[in-house]
Amino acid sequence: RPQSTRTGIFLPHLVASMEDVEVSYIMIKPDGVQRGLVGEIISRFEKKGFLLKGLKLFQCPKDLAEEHYKDLKDKSFFPKLIDYITSGPVVCMAWEGVGVVASARKLIGATNPLQAEPGTIRGDLAVQTGRNVVHGSDSPDNGQREIALWFKEGELCQWVSAQASWLRE
Ligand code: ADP
Repeated sequence: RPQSTRTGIFLPHLVASMEDVEVSYIMIKPDGVQRGLVGEIISRFEKKGFLLKGLKLFQCPKDLAEEHYKDLKDKSFFPKLIDYITSGPVVCMAWEGVGVVASARKLIGATNPLQAEPGTIRGDLAVQTGRNVVHGSDSPDNGQREIALWFKEGELCQWVSAQASWLRE
């Protein structure tokens, strides 16, 4: 069983504080920031009941963008993707919760915003795959990996929401 992180010690592989709790790396991409959608997007995860553990506005360097998207490096759109992600500040977030990884992917919607269901972030707020406003980790392991990649030790807060007992019995 992972050691509680309420001690305030940041160890990427122990970042989730309970055994059924996951963490997801959610990022508002430069188009979401430029279009004034930061509050709207954060609000959807907040209202769902996930716990915000880390948050920063950040200009992503090219090498970090390449590392984050390394699985796509052979795709024809990779250079454009790196230009897009580094074209302006992004909002980096660490969200914690039971099932947060899969649930956040549902809240975000399909990669192509024209195929994303209404009610999802991409379905409501975007029209093109190359400008799809938000990223969400695709597995619990990648959630841990990406949070360790984008956040430094000390940038995550260990805290308990006052809502906790109203969200889970
Ligand atoms: P997701 O972000 O939904 O997990 P992928 O991991 O497949 O999707 O792709 C990562 C990101 O790369 C997408 O969110 C999108 O910004 C970009 N991307 C994927 N496919 C394309 C494409 N065909 N053309 C342009 N950009 C793309």
